[in-house]
Amino acid sequence: MATAPPLVGKLVYRFEEGDATQSELLGGKGSNLCEMAHLGLPVPPGFVITTQVCQSYFSSGQTLPEGLWESLRENIDLLESSLAREFGSSSNPLLVSVRSGAAVSMPGMMDTILNLGINDEIAEGLARLMDNPRAAYDAYRRFLQIYAGVVLEVPNDVFEPILGDAKTRAQVSQDHQLSPEQLRAIIEDYKEAIRRHSGRDVPEDPWTQLKEAVEAVFRSWNTPRAIHYRDYYGISQDLGTAVTVMSMVYGNLGDTSGTGVLFTRDPSSGKKEVLGEYLPNAQGEDVVAGGRTPRPLAELATSMPQVYRQLTAMAHQLENHYRDLQDIEFTVEEGRLFLLQTRNAKRTPMAAVKAAVDMAEEGLITRQEALLRIKPDELSQLLVPKFAEALDSAEAQDSLLARGAPASPGAASGIVCFDAEAAVAAALQGEAVILVRPETKPDDIHGITASVGVLTCRGGVTSHAAVVTRGMGIPCVVSCEEVWVDLEQGCLTANGKTVWAGEYISLDGGTGEVFHAAYKTELPELDEFEEGKTLLGWADRVKRLGVWANADTPQDATQALSLGAEGIGLCRTEHMFLDPERLPAVRQMLLNAPAAEEWRRDNSGAGMAPKDQDQLGELVRKSPVRKFYEALDQVRRFQTEDFTGILRVMGNRPVIIRLLDAPLHEFLPSQEELLAELEELRSKPGVSSGQIAEKEDLARLADSLREANPMLGHRGCRLGLSFPPIYQMQVEAIMTASVGLIKQGCPVQPEIMIPLIVDVEEMRRLRRDLTAVAEAVQQEAGVRVAYKFGTMIETPRAALTAGKIAEVADFFSFGTNDLTQLTFGFSRDDAEGKFLRSYIQEGILPADPFSTLDQEGVGDLIRHAIAAGREARPSLELGICGEHGGDGASVAFFHRMGLDYVSCSPYRVPAARLAAAQAALAESAETAD
Ligand code: ADP
Ligand code: MG
Ligand code: MG
Repeated sequence: MATAPPLVGKLVYRFEEGDATQSELLGGKGSNLCEMAHLGLPVPPGFVITTQVCQSYFSSGQTLPEGLWESLRENIDLLESSLAREFGSSSNPLLVSVRSGAAVSMPGMMDTILNLGINDEIAEGLARLMDNPRAAYDAYRRFLQIYAGVVLEVPNDVFEPILGDAKTRAQVSQDHQLSPEQLRAIIEDYKEAIRRHSGRDVPEDPWTQLKEAVEAVFRSWNTPRAIHYRDYYGISQDLGTAVTVMSMVYGNLGDTSGTGVLFTRDPSSGKKEVLGEYLPNAQGEDVVAGGRTPRPLAELATSMPQVYRQLTAMAHQLENHYRDLQDIEFTVEEGRLFLLQTRNAKRTPMAAVKAAVDMAEEGLITRQEALLRIKPDELSQLLVPKFAEALDSAEAQDSLLARGAPASPGAASGIVCFDAEAAVAAALQGEAVILVRPETKPDDIHGITASVGVLTCRGGVTSHAAVVTRGMGIPCVVSCEEVWVDLEQGCLTANGKTVWAGEYISLDGGTGEVFHAAYKTELPELDEFEEGKTLLGWADRVKRLGVWANADTPQDATQALSLGAEGIGLCRTEHMFLDPERLPAVRQMLLNAPAAEEWRRDNSGAGMAPKDQDQLGELVRKSPVRKFYEALDQVRRFQTEDFTGILRVMGNRPVIIRLLDAPLHEFLPSQEELLAELEELRSKPGVSSGQIAEKEDLARLADSLREANPMLGHRGCRLGLSFPPIYQMQVEAIMTASVGLIKQGCPVQPEIMIPLIVDVEEMRRLRRDLTAVAEAVQQEAGVRVAYKFGTMIETPRAALTAGKIAEVADFFSFGTNDLTQLTFGFSRDDAEGKFLRSYIQEGILPADPFSTLDQEGVGDLIRHAIAAGREARPSLELGICGEHGGDGASVAFFHRMGLDYVSCSPYRVPAARLAAAQAALAESAETAD
């Protein structure tokens, strides 16, 4: 086993020695405790073991570095003298908590041990010192349970029945109602159970406890849930955790004691009001672990007004100090307030935006800071789903199952799963899953990330599970106590109804309602969200990149506009062809295209389509040629309608229309399907020979269009060159729509895009022939249209020869999806299903190149194409239309490359606007340095 280099520098920092800037070394929790101590806030004294010690622990085969032990002894000495208590003393004992905390906050993912330094004898001493034997034994009981769980790996559910049975026997419902004698009996049962499960006892010696606890907290860095959480958020697995050791304060000393958590603003809505929860007569983990449902903080205002005032004043002070929304843990010990943790709160995307905008308007932060504080992805999540119909009808209300506390907004509908594994398995089958648990533990994290919604019976809105779902934008309802889960039977009951695993429920994480039915969900409009609009308005003033949208229909275009799109960067025509109403005409067109093409080449050479019946001639009146042109005519009319719709919506904003790209077989049923249908037709009585012949033709065509690798086959401009009338028909439709709109006084800016070019000659020929069509339409209408011809740069060869292509193209649009596939030589579907995940997990590739542009390879091709293209044609319009247009890191790259715009799907337009603003801000920060 490798040995670590000796650690240099301090291994342990007292709270007085550190500050908030040292989160990498002291962890977020530790460094913030240091900062609070400096601010003079009431933090129990303590110290922090650095993350470097944790890193060294792992790199040296799980041994603690030299000198750590001495440091721990010295620091415990200091605690003893500052508190006038003694670690290990039975007359005047000092107990501590041993807490985990990494640089990045991971709520509930690692372990913390409370009340450490206790044993039988010390518990007696503590009882005398506290003058409260019940609280002392309660602390001891908790210690045994947590220590056994974390250090000796005894599962929690060993203890729950012991405690539960004792409460039943004592006829009480709450832990704190147990008498000292009853608690003592429980402690003996706990010890017995620990021995049975682990084969050993919890050590009596406090120093042994301390050493084992520190190591266990280090090891908790690598629990499966912690690893999963870091994977989900792309957090490095090497950071390691710091360990905070601090003297205990006791929230379980009676009615003037308690513990709680508060947020300085509502982490769900962002509203500026302190929101918190509180449990009287309890210790910290009771609130955050979600096992008990706490009381609203407001109750503290009546029960202990003095403490409440102090607490809210400190909350305010901390928010101002950190200039951000805080999540604060506190404990009250006999009327005395202590702060135990503060961190920047996890919040929903909606709350993140509202708080950032409000804080900028309050003058707490600048507008630039507000813009930089929101992750572009969060803006996409902001459009959280809601139910498509309002669920206030009598019928919907009939399906209402129960009501809980709204913990993370958004509507979700899916099948019920009662455990995390089942949820993951169902999600892999493509099911939408709602995870239902009596209480959610951080251990369920893999089930949570696989679900579209989460429902729990116990635990409050500040429980770790609630915090985690908010951070992930997963709708969640908690403390739904009307729901009773029977894990053994695999069902839940609520208000007399039973729901079995696999049945559909729907929930609304904004209202807390749960329904026994499947309801459709849809995305809301950003229009209803004032702060969102304000933030994006600020973004638009800062950004340089244009943000366009990919939209194929007038509806999509309308939505894109309302989300702030400044143009359409990609209007695909394939979908228009696939409309069931049109498919017959489209198929007729394809079926007869080869014959028509043969006839055309023989008769009119490279000339245009025959315009009238005479020209077609009697000879071909009943032939495939005629059928082809009739079908083409029909499709032209459909297309003219399509383009009129979308161009009208966009008005004088650019609309890039891509001519047909897909290989033709996509418009036909599969060969297998056709053969099966043929079989059936032939065996059916009364089917005409004509019907059969037609089916046969279709099957023959499907066979002839079959390709070994259609994605690299006869498609894009190749198709356009083999069957010229199809592109000509499309251009005619675009121009007819344009002149029509112009005549109505509606300005338009169509840009015609030719897909999949690999060589300038393809572009040159197509442009020449299609220009002739465009000119003819304009001439006939007597109207000029300002239109452009351009191409998609989506093959490496096109990028490499971009200088030449630019001579005949007015614009380039980088199709980064295909460009990535072709540069890597990966088919996206195959790669993502098979090896890409493990490639990323094992670090062979840093990220999924289909989500975040590969700047080194694909990016280099783009860089080259931009330079060569601009040199050949300075006015060249440049943009991208791949999915990367909505990804923050990729947008920053496109900004640096000096593109004119990025185009992405409509719902990502807000994210792209923000990312573009952030890229501009990053650039001006660089030039300012
Ligand atoms: P987590 O990261 O799971 O929240 P913490 O280290 O914050 O773990 O501790 C768990 C709970 O124990 C919290 O509610 C915290 O406030 C409480 N706690 C931690 N240290 C002490 C202490 N010294 N005295 C009293 N309560 C404590
Ligand atoms: Mg905590
Ligand atoms: Mg493509």
